[in-house]
Amino acid sequence: MTFRELNLNTPLLNALDDLGYETPTTIQHKIFSVIMSGRDVCGIAQTGTGKTLAYLLPCLRLWKFTKDKNPQILIVVPTRELVKQVTEEINKLTTYMNVVAVGVFGGVNMKPQKMEVEQGCDIVVATPGRLLDLVLDGSLKLKNIKRLVIDEVDELFNLGFRTQINNVLDRLPEKRQNLLFSATITQEVETLMDNYFLQPERVEAAPTGTPLENINQYLYRVPNFYTKVNLLEMLLMENETMTKVLVFAATKQMADDIFVEMEAKFAGQAGVIHSNKAQNHRFNTINCFRDGTYRFIIATDLVSRGIDISEVSHVINFDVPDEPEAYIHRIGRTGRADKNGISITFVTEQEMENLAAIETLMNYTVPQLPLPDTLTISDVLTEDEKPKVRMRETLIVLPKVSESKGAFHEKLAKNVKVNVKVSYKDKMKAKYGKPKTRGAKKKK
Ligand code: AMP
Repeated sequence: MTFRELNLNTPLLNALDDLGYETPTTIQHKIFSVIMSGRDVCGIAQTGTGKTLAYLLPCLRLWKFTKDKNPQILIVVPTRELVKQVTEEINKLTTYMNVVAVGVFGGVNMKPQKMEVEQGCDIVVATPGRLLDLVLDGSLKLKNIKRLVIDEVDELFNLGFRTQINNVLDRLPEKRQNLLFSATITQEVETLMDNYFLQPERVEAAPTGTPLENINQYLYRVPNFYTKVNLLEMLLMENETMTKVLVFAATKQMADDIFVEMEAKFAGQAGVIHSNKAQNHRFNTINCFRDGTYRFIIATDLVSRGIDISEVSHVINFDVPDEPEAYIHRIGRTGRADKNGISITFVTEQEMENLAAIETLMNYTVPQLPLPDTLTISDVLTEDEKPKVRMRETLIVLPKVSESKGAFHEKLAKNVKVNVKVSYKDKMKAKYGKPKTRGAKKKK
């Protein structure tokens, strides 16, 4: 099967030639005619399956030139990285077409985006918050939208964008085609389709949870965080095939901690990205990773979704994610588009339960590798790993008010001090044996 067998036009085929893409991936092939038919579609696909091109190709094939300034195609995605990536992909595919695509996302000044949108465009790629801001502001008009794509819907919901999505959907023309893509179809995704879609046809890239076949997965059982640090360092030192390594960490703090450890050993070879980092830093880090300046980057789940970094040689899961789907997303960063990839997961005793959930979802047991003999097992524990001393909470029974003696109760007899008034005269008498008065003193 080649792209020539799909009902594409010359400009698109030429662009694909330039990109060097010959064979459509499964989802690209399966979804093409369904989208071309004009039906609503639910694509079940994770990143790495070629899902972006899967919707872009038929959307661009169906696109018709108009003089109207308002966009015809709206693509909603969860992160700014994805906005950038999809916009770039559109630009590459439309080298021989007269299509203007604009990407808008939050976290930056709205003015330049407002101006770009107002100048007129054919396709808008947007994160939901900024999209809604531009619509409410009046700069972006949705009345000509014929095709809506919501990409990585599960992730959009995870990020709490439900209200914004519903709000945007309510403002779209009724007569339109809806396309939705998600790695997992959750109850929330189903509800969205029930409310806004018209009998969507489901097209699956691979059954949900099935790992991509070209990813070799392994795991190490590791006792604690600092032994994981030692293991990561050792793997990077000894393994020359680890040319482009994406290290995943559960939290921003963990990502920063690993970065500090690695930067000490591999100065200048590592980058770190998470949502606390400024947008410019994130783009720069990704670019440095792309062009090979960085040999590895440490990232949290959020920013890794959807970013397009080809030829990731290894994905290393420094932790085991709580949600099994996150693991599928993570390892999907390697082994992309018909290339082999390797994923390595570090698992502590506490994380075995998470691993079990992942293995159940995939219906696959990840092979375990023995720890290298020369690995230094650390006995230093992080604050989180230290056993917690739990104080028993004891209930102190307070006496009832009626039984209580109150704050000013009687002292014990032996402690009672009786104040006896002694006159100055008597005091002097007791001291000097005779009456002594102030006057007497003076007279002397
Ligand atoms: P996606 O799953 O959309 O994030 O795409 C994964 C990567 O595969 C991107 O870098 C695409 O440019 C690339 N790609 C998509 N379709 C093809 C194809 N048919 N042949 C080769 N590479 C592709």
